[in-house]
Amino acid sequence: MPIDYHTHNYRCGHAVGTLEEYVLSAIDKGLDEIGLSDHMPLLHISHEDNPDIAMTMEELPRYVEECLSLQEKYKDRIAVRVGLEGDFIEGYEEKIEAIVQAYPWDYVIGSVHFLGTWDVTDFRQVHQWEGRSVIAAYEQYFDAIQKAAATGFYDYIGHIDAIKRFGYRPEEDPSALEDAALQAVKKHNLAFELNAAGIHAPCKEMYPSVKMLERAKAYDIPVTFGSDAHHPDKVGQKQADAQTMLKNVGYTHLATFQGRKRVLKPF
Ligand SMILES: [Zn+2]
Ligand SMILES: [Zn+2]
Repeated sequence: MPIDYHTHNYRCGHAVGTLEEYVLSAIDKGLDEIGLSDHMPLLHISHEDNPDIAMTMEELPRYVEECLSLQEKYKDRIAVRVGLEGDFIEGYEEKIEAIVQAYPWDYVIGSVHFLGTWDVTDFRQVHQWEGRSVIAAYEQYFDAIQKAAATGFYDYIGHIDAIKRFGYRPEEDPSALEDAALQAVKKHNLAFELNAAGIHAPCKEMYPSVKMLERAKAYDIPVTFGSDAHHPDKVGQKQADAQTMLKNVGYTHLATFQGRKRVLKPF
């Protein structure tokens, strides 16, 4: 059951390749399903000042149109799912909801990148850690995950512990914070992803950690897989390693999404 539900394309300004190149890469790698999930347009900071974080609002309908046409074009070779990585920004819920409701998504990923105007996943903003309490940042991040889960906008939570990306780890044990985030995901009947991209980041491990994965399994939270590819070659990256990790903690099924309905498939 090779799938990849988390991919980007040139539109965001920091990825390479067209949507079609990602679909063709997925076909080439023998995937059964490819999820297109570009970054939602920025709502709380200006695109002009931040041109390489996400597509513009004007581009959003064109993105959806192109996803749908690729879905049709390649329907005999691969299932193309139309998705969006929908940033959760506290205070912007109405605008997020409008985007979620405006298009025929197969799924919407709930991801936290921003704590206020700080993009905790952007290597150009790592200086923001200087002089900051690491545990306080973790608290704020996992609190945002809980709030994202409660909105009802999302089908699954993306890179659930991305706050660790640049290797800043609190001296205090963050397990209770991670656990509260997982419990919120469970309570609101969402899934989460095993996201391979962390492997190449300073944290040097997937999102989430094996420990958190074990906890998620204990709560019986459905899991999907995403490469978070920002280059067509990265589609499906670390798929085999991810499946081994998932099997080791007891998972037998992956969550897939069509028309915002979750279907569990064995792998
Ligand atoms: Zn990105
Ligand atoms: Zn993301």
